[in-house]
Amino acid sequence: MTTRAVDGRIPVGVLGATGSVGQRMVSLLEGHPWFRLEEVAASERSAGKRYAEAVRWVLPTRMPAEAADLLVRPAEAGSEARILFSALDADVAGPLEERHARAGHLVVSNARSHRMDADVPLLVPEVNAEHLELLLRQSFRSGAIVTNPNCSTIGLALALHPLHQRFGVERVLVTTLQAVSGAGLPGVPSLVALDNVIPFIAGEEAKLETETLKIFGRLGEGGIVPASLVVSAQCNRVPVVDGHTLCVSVSLRGAPSLEEVREAWQTFEGEPQRLRLPSAPPRPVLFVEGDDVPQPRLHRDAGDGMASTVGRLRRCPILGYRFVSVTHNTVRGAAGGSILCAELVVAQRRIEGLEAPEE
Ligand code: NAP
Repeated sequence: MTTRAVDGRIPVGVLGATGSVGQRMVSLLEGHPWFRLEEVAASERSAGKRYAEAVRWVLPTRMPAEAADLLVRPAEAGSEARILFSALDADVAGPLEERHARAGHLVVSNARSHRMDADVPLLVPEVNAEHLELLLRQSFRSGAIVTNPNCSTIGLALALHPLHQRFGVERVLVTTLQAVSGAGLPGVPSLVALDNVIPFIAGEEAKLETETLKIFGRLGEGGIVPASLVVSAQCNRVPVVDGHTLCVSVSLRGAPSLEEVREAWQTFEGEPQRLRLPSAPPRPVLFVEGDDVPQPRLHRDAGDGMASTVGRLRRCPILGYRFVSVTHNTVRGAAGGSILCAELVVAQRRIEGLEAPEE
């Protein structure tokens, strides 16, 4: 395994590089100060082709030149990269990610397969950086698995954490309006998605209801002890390309004023901001004033797609407070979020020999 690329950066690979999240990952890794993309991998359908030929590029930005000529490898093949970002289809991710971790790679995954494993951190770097302690309990020797939560859960966790820290969150009702890019490629057929709202996304409500409790949980002997708050979720697919909108009602301890709630968001920063990680937005939660914001088209790219935008804060006659949040699902909710996770692992020197290049 190569520890350093020629320019001193850490060599990384992307598993599932041809998909919706994988393309974002390839795009965000271009010019990254710590990581250098050296491998792309996907299914047998793509393996053996040049990346530019294998991928149906759907991003508005051009394909990075450093990726275009890479030969796509089969995802199960051995790798020379030190970090493997996984954007694999969840049906195949589980055993493949484990195999790569056993072979000594740090695997940072977007797939659901290992998220709820007792010894695997489910990481939102601004929220639960201390959960990286779990890496000491993994049995992969020099390798490890870190996971990124579900794309809607990340937006919910970022919006709730400043309130949970300051006041304590008790109950949450969340209704999601989720973009079609969340369904992967080739995506939801246009005759199903356009002019429509689909009130079902398989497995999504359970993910919001369980993953949030693990993220806000505390380290215990047998893994993470889930937080005692309750989340009830309803998930809908809407004809938006990128950006998940969440309509949230929440009950808070101590009856804070709306001004205190707003201030909790506006003053919040987490470990990535303190460590000045390369992908950390200056403000992870942005509050916007106005009756009709946030909106996905206007706010998904806030903080280069890494910030969650909240607004429409008002009283809720049932739970006390309600608001709306917008988060970019394939950037903060997937590719960018997992790059930030890897930056945190490196900055905190959680894996021996994995260090940021000297500036
Ligand atoms: P996608 O567009 O369907 O891409 C799936 C990727 O997995 C492709 O690169 C595909 O390669 C590869 N793949 C499929 N079957 C394979 C096999 N048998 N062996 C090896 N590789 C295989 O899906 P996506 O939306 O990017 O999602 C990727 C992962 O991230 C999923 O686990 C998803 O749940 C999770 N996620 C997605 C989002 C989002 O907003 N889209 C957000 C958070 C998490 P080929 O092109 O060669 O078939």
